[in-house]
Amino acid sequence: MTMLLPKFELHQPTTVAEAVALAKQFGDDVDYISGGTDLLPNYKCGLNARTNVISLQHIAELKQISATEIGAGVTLTEIEHNTDVPAGVREAAAHIASPLLRESGTLGGNLMLDNRCHFFNQSYFWRNSLGYCLKADGDRCHVVPKINVDGKSVLNDKVCVATHSSDLAPMLIALGAEATFAGPDGERTIKLNDFYWGDGIERFERKPGEMLVKVTLPDWALNVRSGWKKLAPRQSIDFSVVGVGVALDLDGDKVSKLRIGLGAVDTTPVLFDYAGRDVRKAPHSYLFTDPTKDMPEVIGQPLTDELIETVAAHVQTQAQPKLNVPMAPDYRKKMCGVLTRRLLKELRDTHS
Ligand SMILES: Cc1cc2nc3c(=O)[nH]c(=O)nc-3n(C[C@H](O)[C@H](O)[C@H](O)COP(=O)(O)OP(=O)(O)OC[C@H]3O[C@@H](n4cnc5c(N)ncnc54)[C@H](O)[C@@H]3O)c2cc1C
Ligand code: SF4
Repeated sequence: MTMLLPKFELHQPTTVAEAVALAKQFGDDVDYISGGTDLLPNYKCGLNARTNVISLQHIAELKQISATEIGAGVTLTEIEHNTDVPAGVREAAAHIASPLLRESGTLGGNLMLDNRCHFFNQSYFWRNSLGYCLKADGDRCHVVPKINVDGKSVLNDKVCVATHSSDLAPMLIALGAEATFAGPDGERTIKLNDFYWGDGIERFERKPGEMLVKVTLPDWALNVRSGWKKLAPRQSIDFSVVGVGVALDLDGDKVSKLRIGLGAVDTTPVLFDYAGRDVRKAPHSYLFTDPTKDMPEVIGQPLTDELIETVAAHVQTQAQPKLNVPMAPDYRKKMCGVLTRRLLKELRDTHS
């Protein structure tokens, strides 16, 4: 059994342009590293390690933070303690891992976090005894989800459904964040919600060599109520097995905006926009949760206990957790509703 870090060459650029040029030079055999709190444990388990690693630690441009712009290199601790940043984002950051890991872990690493699964986040020795899986070294999925083919539900061991477990991603998509990337073809900005798509291997729409530079929030994100709750086996250190981020705006007692980001149930975070406007451009057939299905009428309605129950039931009904992270899918599904209900009540009652 080996849990040693494999050998790689560490590159330490000081500008974004230099980092991108290095990534272009090494093609497929390269990874970026920020705090290393996700990448290095994966390397120790022999999970898709590369022989070139580009450190983003020395790039000052990535470390800027303001109320609406957070650089990819800003640490989770800095986000947690920056009172200009919306409350929901601070709460999500404050519940990641442990104080020590939050000192090293960054926004960029959190948003680009690899998906998780019982059968993947294991040592090489452990995975070898099972015959590996699609996400590393193997040719089949051990979770074997049912997928829809021509209206029929069939078993498919050629699809990876590893769970997207970033805590900041669902909160930031609820707040309408955009992400700016730099790559060999220049810079581009994309809605964070559109960036995530695909199965548990693909995870997002990142072009070769691209790195995340910053995340930008719209001005409205500073004027809405926002909050975050997660379910995890332990309050500290454990990854979410359900995460709910809410952005809520009220006009008097009526809902004028309600966006809920659901994390840790599917291969990507899922946005429920009750105005029905923000629908992901590239919905993927492997995404089991459908936020647009049977959406209740919420905008313009008073936020009564009954309406909160309706929204919580909607999120719970649509959520489709898989049996590949801790805690049973049925329990996690129920907790999607419970956390949504608690957050909506808190956001309504504590701000009035
Ligand atoms: C014990 C433990 C508990 C944890 N608990 C949680 C949790 O509760 N919630 C949670 O969300 N996370 C959790 N994590 C994961 C991790 O600590 C955090 O998500 C952290 O924010 C990752 O940031 P990092 O800078 O360390 O990422 P890194 O490990 O440096 O990188 C992670 C991935 O992102 C890529 N990357 C990093 N920066 C960029 C960039 N700017 N552009 C492009 N790609 C980039 C890397 O190539 C790598 O693939 C936990 C980790 C551990 C070890
Ligand atoms: S979902 Fe299947 S393919 Fe993906 S990591 Fe888990 S076992 Fe591997």
